[in-house]
Amino acid sequence: MLFTKLINHCQFYRLSTNRIMSKKIICLFDVDGTLTPPRQKIDAKVDKFLQDISKTEKFDIGVVGGSDLVKIQEQLGENNIFDKYKYVFAENGLTAYKNGQKLSSETIQDAIGEDVLQNLIDYCLEYISKIKLPFKRGTFIEFRSGMLNVSPVGRNCSQKERLQFYEYDKEHKIREKFIQALKKEFPDLALTYSIGGQISFDIFPIGWDKTYCLRYVDDNYDEIHFFGDKTHEGGNDYEIYESGLTIGHRVTGPDDTIQQIKTLVNILNETFSKGPPTQCL
Ligand SMILES: [Mg+2]
Repeated sequence: MLFTKLINHCQFYRLSTNRIMSKKIICLFDVDGTLTPPRQKIDAKVDKFLQDISKTEKFDIGVVGGSDLVKIQEQLGENNIFDKYKYVFAENGLTAYKNGQKLSSETIQDAIGEDVLQNLIDYCLEYISKIKLPFKRGTFIEFRSGMLNVSPVGRNCSQKERLQFYEYDKEHKIREKFIQALKKEFPDLALTYSIGGQISFDIFPIGWDKTYCLRYVDDNYDEIHFFGDKTHEGGNDYEIYESGLTIGHRVTGPDDTIQQIKTLVNILNETFSKGPPTQCL
């Protein structure tokens, strides 16, 4: 899973061993499915591990989630999130903070215009009104700074209903079919449709995926490591995982994230002390 990227990563180290002591590194983390179970709070041991290892090994950490800031704060630490993460990117970076200071942001209505936006919202509501699901709840469209988040079942569903819809969607491809219909209806719009999480998908201007946040960090670091769980094509980590600006790490959940950070730190430390790691030669 990680192997191909790791080989590339090791080849990179082999070419650059002499400079590695002075490298400035940041690790960016997706939230749902990477640092936390979907839509739940971070486990205390994952939280502590991240804080401790980033201080011990002297690399910066940041988070890049698709959710809005309020939800990310609920999951990762309420008021002290800015003490824990140098960069906090909500809505893929459309809402961006560095050291607790808010950076500039853009909005989807500025990018695509009010008329188009309204057509899009109207079509989604009409489509949702015509599909039959085992159940529907409320909040079918959530308007965010840089995207629309569309949920056929409604974001007000309970945790149990969320899991039920997720299983139902795996079988019936509700979200995939919805996206196909949108692409057919609006073939000329420069929009990306991205399935993330369990009950919804996001609609945003092309380029406003998670790579959006890289504009705030790419000049400051020699290496940007990204850890995410939805790295397959169509997943909301795909573009940043594949980006030439990042070294991507595909994870299966918070425990795997910890393991992969340990592996990365070991590689870095081996490279510091012995030159390039032998398994990569
Ligand atoms: Mg995720």
